[in-house]
Amino acid sequence: MLTAFTELASSGALQSQVVIVGSGPAALAVAYALEERGVPSVLLESGEASKTEQWNVLTGGFKGADYGVADSYTQLHIRRQLGGGSNVWGGWCTTMREMSMSRTDIADYPQWPLKRADLTPFYGRAGTWLKIPDYEASLVDAIPVSGFDQLNVKPFRFSPPVRYGKDFSEHIEKSPKITLVQGVTVLSIKGRHGHAEALELSVGGEARTLKCGKAIVLAAGAVGNARLLARSAAELGVSDATSANVGRYFFEHPHCYSLARILFAPELAQELTKKQYQSSSFISLMPTADFLVKNKLTDFNFQLSTVPADKLDSREAAIAKNYKAIYGVEPAVYNATLGMEQTVHSKDFSVLDDGTLKRKNDGHLTLDLTAQKKIVDAAKTWLMANGAHAWVSPTTESPIVAVGHLHGTTRMAQTPDKGVVDADCRVFGIDNVFMAGSSVFPSGGFANPTYTIVALAIRLGDHLASQQKQI
Ligand SMILES: Cc1cc2nc3c(=O)[nH]c(=O)nc-3n(C[C@H](O)[C@H](O)[C@H](O)COP(=O)(O)OP(=O)(O)OC[C@H]3O[C@@H](n4cnc5c(N)ncnc54)[C@H](O)[C@@H]3O)c2cc1C
Repeated sequence: MLTAFTELASSGALQSQVVIVGSGPAALAVAYALEERGVPSVLLESGEASKTEQWNVLTGGFKGADYGVADSYTQLHIRRQLGGGSNVWGGWCTTMREMSMSRTDIADYPQWPLKRADLTPFYGRAGTWLKIPDYEASLVDAIPVSGFDQLNVKPFRFSPPVRYGKDFSEHIEKSPKITLVQGVTVLSIKGRHGHAEALELSVGGEARTLKCGKAIVLAAGAVGNARLLARSAAELGVSDATSANVGRYFFEHPHCYSLARILFAPELAQELTKKQYQSSSFISLMPTADFLVKNKLTDFNFQLSTVPADKLDSREAAIAKNYKAIYGVEPAVYNATLGMEQTVHSKDFSVLDDGTLKRKNDGHLTLDLTAQKKIVDAAKTWLMANGAHAWVSPTTESPIVAVGHLHGTTRMAQTPDKGVVDADCRVFGIDNVFMAGSSVFPSGGFANPTYTIVALAIRLGDHLASQQKQI
């Protein structure tokens, strides 16, 4: 149901229900999983149903230049609005590769305290909830390209995309188990001795405090989650070792868009036309796990889409003509975008400096993407050694940019000194505060995050439902 803040405050509902901060895919997936088990929850969302002048975060303090993107990065990538980032996402979905969750060949590679197999059943439910047709195809870790032992394909599938603010509102309105209050910004969590007891809120500019009795789930995005916990950690009793990890290890999915135009040798070009390698309009071509381990490289994929003959520039057309003269067949020319796992995670407190804390959810984000250059070079060498006939670089170099996949600021770990939450997404040392969203990812491979965010959130919802008596 939709409720006004005054009604919520007088009902005392926060004391008896699971409280979820946010209303993006992570928040709604937790609420949905709880609802399936008959457990009620209250969602507190800072934004409103439609975009207003205040729809996005404030951008003062954000330095685009640090980040390799324009100053509009936070405006583009953080939505303070009912449904969060689902208002703008593209719906690209695939699962994390097994190796992206654990590498022992790379020093300091952050390890997940979960295995891919632990997520598989939740990917199934998330696929249905995200309305991904044929989602089972994207559960496949890698499809070997027949006849080319160094080449693998990672299938992607697509949500329509679901826009949760719009598409889920009717469900929430009718649901007796989900209560949504909009226009409520959570400022901090109050509590002591490792137990949260109340939330400090801003409602229409007025400060309010509401008592909470049960579990609190922070699902406020990777910047919001870290900032809320940072503001609350000392009073809650989060240990110094864990606090030191809040807001650190921020990482993205660096991309080079239109890095090159590629022509493959005829046998490979022919093989790649087969349906099993296609992800809608593109092919996601990647190296084998063995190749990455042998060369101690973080992961990457080429997203290859065919370019119509009338869109080729004069250099590309000349190479295509030459190709036909050599092989006697018309070539397929592919536009290649390179998606990458981030090699170095920022150890700076990227999202927590004092100036931005005062502005609540604003984010000062810093990323060092310079180490990615090595991956761009390695990816080119790998492709040229494994079936590419020609690589045509664009006339202006494609920059390495971030794409709006924010991760890692409250990462999951085996022990409190290495991260912020445990394998159940519970903040170390606090019995009733949990995190949902890609802030908990220790690493992210190159897979777009939302499918994994939703799988983890459904898993968290199940966990909270099963813990009802204890929390
Ligand atoms: C342009 C674009 C395209 C994308 N395309 C894809 C794609 O194709 N595939 C993919 O997997 N991912 C994609 N993403 C990423 C995807 O949108 C995010 O992974 C996803 O939205 C994260 O969900 P979330 O619920 O964790 O956080 P969010 O969606 O960020 O939601 C957080 C919510 O919390 C609210 N909030 C924040 N702070 C507070 C507070 N203090 N109090 C109350 N409420 C608060 C916000 O208003 C917001 O509604 C894309 C992102 C962008 C920007």
